[in-house]
Amino acid sequence: MQVAACGVCRTDLHVVDGELPNPKLPIVPGHEIVGRIDKVADGTDALSIGQRVGVPWLGQTCGQCRYCRNGSENLCDRPLFTGYTRDGGYATHMVADARYVFALPQDGDDIATAPLLCAGLIGWRSLQIAGDGQKIGLYGFGAAAHIIAQVACWQGREVFAFTRKGDDAAQAFARTLGARWSGSSEDAPPEPLDCAIIYAPVGSLVPLALRAVRKGGRVVCAGIHMTDIPSFPYDILWHEREIKSVANLTRQDGEEFFKIVPKARIRTETVSYPLTRANEALADLRNGRLRGAAVLVP
Ligand SMILES: [Zn+2]
Ligand SMILES: [Zn+2]
Repeated sequence: MQVAACGVCRTDLHVVDGELPNPKLPIVPGHEIVGRIDKVADGTDALSIGQRVGVPWLGQTCGQCRYCRNGSENLCDRPLFTGYTRDGGYATHMVADARYVFALPQDGDDIATAPLLCAGLIGWRSLQIAGDGQKIGLYGFGAAAHIIAQVACWQGREVFAFTRKGDDAAQAFARTLGARWSGSSEDAPPEPLDCAIIYAPVGSLVPLALRAVRKGGRVVCAGIHMTDIPSFPYDILWHEREIKSVANLTRQDGEEFFKIVPKARIRTETVSYPLTRANEALADLRNGRLRGAAVLVP
């Protein structure tokens, strides 16, 4: 397929930095891809030439392990991941397994759509795993949180956005997207939260989030990689508080999420870079210089 736009995700930084085990090397990163089909394999009926599609992180699963068989293909024992263990979308063209590709509306803004393929999808999965609590905290207000804040507000929840200390721009941005409160991740929220999702790869946020949730509250870690979680007093986990991680996505998550996108009227904030400036986009993400999501355009 021909790549029209590819989002830059924090996971790409972990791939480039060698922080994830057993990558395919050399590797073409990128797993938030919007493009158009320019060739289909013999016997592929589901997709047609010219069709607009999205390619996510989940590149392939085995279909046979216990996880694939019980509806948890996100945990497959023998998966392939786009831009990590098979080549991804930092490219003009790429090959995808048609069974794991999402059909997208034929018309649409390719750049604005790209971040939905991971920040949106993983964000959606983490939101579901957080449960249906009314007061939800989002730690790390980057690409995923700016999408999920909109979904949560559309669902009628109250969003509390936590950013790096002193990041006034991100805190103001969160409020423009409907957050009821925004502040530093070191601050306590004005009232106890029902649940919290941590999007930043920072283990020290786990005890902070545990302190912010009420009894029975849940803290969801949505990243693929996190710095070590510091030890903390049992007291802040006590009273049936929970910590849970979110891994990957299922195709079912995608089917659900792409139905919600138009209903929730999700608008993504993007900064586009030509493909030749991919390293600059990665550096800007690393240094927290982005508002919203970086997207490469070949
Ligand atoms: Zn499997
Ligand atoms: Zn990603």
